[in-house]
Amino acid sequence: MRGLAVVLFLAFLPQWAAAEGFALQRDAMVETIRRDVEDTRRYLGKGELDLGVLAALGRVRRHEFVPRELRDRAYQNRPLPIGYGQTISQPYIVALMTDLLRVGPGDRVLELGTGSGYQAAVLAELGCRVFTVEIVPALHEAATGRLARLGYDQVRTRQGDGYHGWAEHGPFDAIVVTAAASHVPPPLVEQLKPGGRMVIPLGNPFLTQQLSVVEKDAAGAVRTRQFLPVVFVPLTGGHGAGR
Ligand code: SAH
Repeated sequence: MRGLAVVLFLAFLPQWAAAEGFALQRDAMVETIRRDVEDTRRYLGKGELDLGVLAALGRVRRHEFVPRELRDRAYQNRPLPIGYGQTISQPYIVALMTDLLRVGPGDRVLELGTGSGYQAAVLAELGCRVFTVEIVPALHEAATGRLARLGYDQVRTRQGDGYHGWAEHGPFDAIVVTAAASHVPPPLVEQLKPGGRMVIPLGNPFLTQQLSVVEKDAAGAVRTRQFLPVVFVPLTGGHGAGR
């Protein structure tokens, strides 16, 4: 029996060590984000993010959201390719966008651009009900399978052009657009609750954009504020870049 226990222990040792290693890397990533936020405080108007948001990033197994061959780079504070010319955003940007959304448990959040599903998982960790739309069928399928496997049951995925939102599940407390848009899509403003907010990279989809927050007040009036220059992959589809 003891022999078997030792054999089992040794068999699972590499997996255990890898899991521990990723956990340590995750902590280091959160620390890096914290420092980067301090360094960019003049853009953000504050030097720290919501602790709940940082804790959520500290829980999501980012190495599960990147291609296998890039796993050892999963916790570096940089974007990584996920295939089809798309990228998983830099952790600092995901943290910042999530912070700007100011969401909490039970909030209904629409995401345009599922990509790997990482941003959706972070929102799910905060207790949100997430509705996320991805235009590339293969990415949609991969993210759907991944989110289910990791137990993110409160995320609903759909393949299609997110420009039109997902009216059936709206209105939403918050909307996050994770691809560069030349303008705020009117259907998304419509699907935002009064008092709700949208975070969206606005500008030239092939150069840089301004990470912006669009707020809809109780009377339905819309106000846009810009935060920081960013570079996102372009929004595609009928209303996207190059059409
Ligand atoms: N949020 C993602 C990163 C997104 S990269 C993550 O956490 O991994 C931007 C994604 O938006 C890409 O996957 C791209 O295919 C998708 N996209 C671009 N235009 C779109 C559109 N019109 N509707 C839905 N998804 C779109």
